[in-house]
Amino acid sequence: MFHLKNQAEDDDPFERQRRIEWWDQNILRQAKIMVVGAGALGNETLKNLALLGIGKIFILDFDTISGSNLSRTVLFRKQDIGLQKAAVAAACTKEMALEQNAKVSFFHGDLVWDLGLGVYRRMDIVLGCVDNDEARLAINRACFSIGVPWVNAGIQGLSGNVMVFGQEGVCYECNVTADQIEDAHSRYDSCENVKKRYLQQERMPTVQITSALISALQTQEAIKLLHCQTSAVGKRIAFNGFTNNYSVITLQPYDNCMAHGKYQDIKELDLGARSSTLQDLFDRVEVEMGQDFIINLGRRFIFDIKCRHCSSLIELMRPAHRIFDDELICEKCHSSNYKVESQKLGDGAINSGQYIRSIDRISSKQVSSQLLSLSLWDLGIPPLHLISVNNSQKQVTFELTADCRDVLGEFVDDL
Ligand SMILES: [Zn+2]
Ligand SMILES: [Zn+2]
Repeated sequence: MFHLKNQAEDDDPFERQRRIEWWDQNILRQAKIMVVGAGALGNETLKNLALLGIGKIFILDFDTISGSNLSRTVLFRKQDIGLQKAAVAAACTKEMALEQNAKVSFFHGDLVWDLGLGVYRRMDIVLGCVDNDEARLAINRACFSIGVPWVNAGIQGLSGNVMVFGQEGVCYECNVTADQIEDAHSRYDSCENVKKRYLQQERMPTVQITSALISALQTQEAIKLLHCQTSAVGKRIAFNGFTNNYSVITLQPYDNCMAHGKYQDIKELDLGARSSTLQDLFDRVEVEMGQDFIINLGRRFIFDIKCRHCSSLIELMRPAHRIFDDELICEKCHSSNYKVESQKLGDGAINSGQYIRSIDRISSKQVSSQLLSLSLWDLGIPPLHLISVNNSQKQVTFELTADCRDVLGEFVDDL
């Protein structure tokens, strides 16, 4: 049987999906989704979001495009080799987006240390498309601390899995093994927590068809979550592409999980990480908390390290995550001070703990003027971050809200 053609319906890119009874294209138009990782999975997921008509997409990756990515990345072309994955993915997602006013922003950098938690606060859902547990654990803690649901996807060979986490209950960290925790720390020197310069990158065996399958499951869960339809919250969907086994496992929460803390009482400040000093932050915090308080950096700031071999000082004055292990060379005796766990300590060597001067909290009672004059960025705090401050009575979280536009770009206009 033939029907008369309706031109308006024919030209609506969302005409078929609107026919799903609970579907609401407006929900998708207004949705704010962060995609962490613009590799094999991220490319597929971004393509899905663009075609579904998602209105606001924020993309995050630290890497650049190489030729070996191209077989799994629908958004990248040969001429993109060497460019930032996040930037190219954002441009291509925007071009592909079927939602007319889609806003796509991106961040090229280190998710664990350099993405302010205020970004998570402004998302409806976070989609994890990363290939390592350090990133997954960081996404998990960030989402849980704000109360944003997230959907993790992982692939290996022809198989993969998707895990859905809500605002409460079980989280990714509830179910990690000791091996995964150790693996998550493999990027750092075990003594000073500084970064290792040279890492053996693990290369996962995989193929584009697997990322397409798993990303489709991940995106489908996100769509259901957005529509408040029954989704696989608290579950792990595992798919074995070799045997075609498909299973859904309920994840068990762990009562003493370290990741279950939540930020409450967030106060927005018109301060920025690069434009404000610690003194500026102190002045604002004082109004709220009085003169006696402690600022939790949530990261380690290293003043100096004493050479284990000749005891002279190596001045650093930087956060640990911006120091590489091979920078810990003593100018005086030219000895290296890293990878001690694998070295036999020579004569006169000082034990770990006695040679490093660092802080992860700053007390208003004992702060040097040198520290007060540093910018928050120099102390290791990223733009749009949340900073937790406490005194004997209360705990308050302050946000560096002045960074909002810098970090979120055009995304910010409709918040
Ligand atoms: Zn947990
Ligand atoms: Zn020395």
